[in-house]
Amino acid sequence: MSNYKIATLGSHTALQILKGAKDEGFETICICEKDKRRPYESYGVADYIIDVDKFSTGFFEIEQQLIDSNAILIPHGSFVSYIGHERMKDIKVMHYGDKHILEWESDRTKERQWLLDAGLKLPRVFSSPEEIECPVIIKFHGAQGGFGYFIANNTQEFYERIKKYPNNSGYAIQEYIVGVPIYTHYFYSNLTGELEVMSFDKRYESNADSIGRIAAKDQLDVEIQTSYTITGNIPVVLRESLLPKVFEMGQSVVEKAKKLVPKGLYGPFCLEAILDPYLDFYTFEISARIVAGTNPYTEGSPYTAYKYDVPMSTGRRIAREIKTAIESGRLEEVLG
Ligand code: ATP
Repeated sequence: MSNYKIATLGSHTALQILKGAKDEGFETICICEKDKRRPYESYGVADYIIDVDKFSTGFFEIEQQLIDSNAILIPHGSFVSYIGHERMKDIKVMHYGDKHILEWESDRTKERQWLLDAGLKLPRVFSSPEEIECPVIIKFHGAQGGFGYFIANNTQEFYERIKKYPNNSGYAIQEYIVGVPIYTHYFYSNLTGELEVMSFDKRYESNADSIGRIAAKDQLDVEIQTSYTITGNIPVVLRESLLPKVFEMGQSVVEKAKKLVPKGLYGPFCLEAILDPYLDFYTFEISARIVAGTNPYTEGSPYTAYKYDVPMSTGRRIAREIKTAIESGRLEEVLG
């Protein structure tokens, strides 16, 4: 144990990952863009801070330092988006999780195939605006955190609204599901073969979550466009009778992944879905790594409280898995 350190990029879920690693007895390294190191110093979660000017270009310059420290890197959403899934394959330092799965997660067509093959319900997609025959959400490629997404009820409305985005670099047209967003945080151990449901969240999105505070007439008068820029996460406890379905969905995604990539999908992952009034989950995305929605649960969630006798965040769960792997001589199995 003392030979290894846990490292991640200072952003997204780094506080939770590093605190969890310390709770499990690891030393920790935070790679920080110079002007973003303050929270990691202030909360005392990092034993070492490595500065880079810009993470996207700087990571490979400091990678040797991580290798020399025997660091195990934990990827998170910002990490993957800064490095890009193509360059993830060039990473040489020890990495928790199978990198090949990121290719399936980041390609909309592959992701859709994976989830459909796993038997999940998905919103319909329309390959051209002419095919629109129900309310749809337009998602721009490469849009950061849902910025600029808009809703259209028919083809005519689509062409009217797309005019505001003349320089867009492509989009997907997806059926708009009326319901509540539910993000399920799973953890699958490839050491024991057990799937855990860690917690749930919903997102706090600007301005989708503020529009209801304005009368419909005022919304029209000032021409407010709905956007889904993520600003934070809100904990959710799910109606208990839905839990069997939630386990079933996670399990089938894991089983399917075993056929897609050498080591499959393991560690933390998230199914992002809309739950409609008939209690059907429509999954619109999978994140094959820790998501920021786990951040409210630094001290564990109502669900982890049933299973663990210590506060078990997802960050700590990752560290515990790595610790178990090291102690049983199976580290190689969790690296990818
Ligand atoms: P991420 O950063 O996770 O990749 P994103 O930019 O791809 O996010 P999405 O998560 O796909 O954006 O969608 C943003 C928000 O739009 C969701 O949180 C949800 O509220 C809403 N949304 C997405 N797809 C649908 C849908 N098919 N029906 C209804 N609402 C949806």
